[in-house]
Amino acid sequence: MVLAKFPRLPLAHLPTPLEPLPRLSAHLGGPRILVKRDDCTGLALGGNKTRKLEFLMAEARDQGADTIVTIGGVQSNHVRQTAAAAAQAGLSCHLVLARAVPWDEPAYEISGNVQLDHLLGAQVHLLPGGTDRGGALRRIEKALRSQGRNPYVIPTGGSNPTGALGYVACAMELEEQAGARGEKIDYLIHATGSGGTQAGLVAGFHVLGSQIQTLGIEITADAEDISTKVQTITRDTARLLGQGKPPPNEVSQVIAGYAGSAYGMPTEQMRAAVRLAARLEGLILDPVYTGKAMAGLIDLVRQGRFSADQTIVFLHTGGAPGLFGYTSYFQDE
Ligand SMILES: *Cc1c(COP(=O)(O)O)cnc(C)c1O
Repeated sequence: MVLAKFPRLPLAHLPTPLEPLPRLSAHLGGPRILVKRDDCTGLALGGNKTRKLEFLMAEARDQGADTIVTIGGVQSNHVRQTAAAAAQAGLSCHLVLARAVPWDEPAYEISGNVQLDHLLGAQVHLLPGGTDRGGALRRIEKALRSQGRNPYVIPTGGSNPTGALGYVACAMELEEQAGARGEKIDYLIHATGSGGTQAGLVAGFHVLGSQIQTLGIEITADAEDISTKVQTITRDTARLLGQGKPPPNEVSQVIAGYAGSAYGMPTEQMRAAVRLAARLEGLILDPVYTGKAMAGLIDLVRQGRFSADQTIVFLHTGGAPGLFGYTSYFQDE
């Protein structure tokens, strides 16, 4: 087992379910569509960051950390899951939240994920828009060290090779589920933001010699930057796994066109996709990541990108708490 040598803390409810979406598949009239329910990882309302935190929190423990520090936007799902992991481990937690999304709805700053951050007992440092995030993070780390604390700093989205191991594990889990049911999966489609999820999946499928292709729908409105991140973390993760030959860059497919004007800014296509998944399948997506990824999936199906005999899996990476920061956007009907 390629992952056996890496310390890991069990945080997620695994394996997450792999379920068919028959009404959505029929509605779109294209390939068969399944959903991999990583929104059901269990930790404090779940999401994809929990898998990464299994490896990151184990590293923190092994380094004798007494404080976890991480960074994200005000409605960051990563930050919320990190606060929960720290609470569960009995560690203190500092969260650097950047006001990066020009979405002015009062709920955005108090509801959803940020409400949960406070509930989980984390210390929240709210940065005004335009603040140098890296600099703020380093200042907080330095201040903690000068107080005699031993902080462990997790990067944005938990996206480094250690965090990506969580998605190497997910690639293996999916292959095993598919194998056990005699399913052949052609594509795995998901939202890609800080790159660690896609990098782990690509590195994992490469190690397994799997034919599953990963399509990352980018949600940052900066496809070039995210492509570079995915490729860099994929290469470094393959190296960490002891793979002589990393996967070629071409297999890291980042698809642009569904992010809208900026990260976190809602789009009409996203709203339609969130409603469709809710009304056809009772499946709750989110406005920032999975709603935009589903909008991409729907559009790719309509463009004829997949044939009717193919099977595609939508990786539900979580994020539903973020819906509550966008209440007004979903109200007018
Ligand atoms: C963080 C996040 C993603 C993107 O994962 P990355 O590893 O950052 O690319 C997708 N969906 C949700 C809900 C997230 O919180």
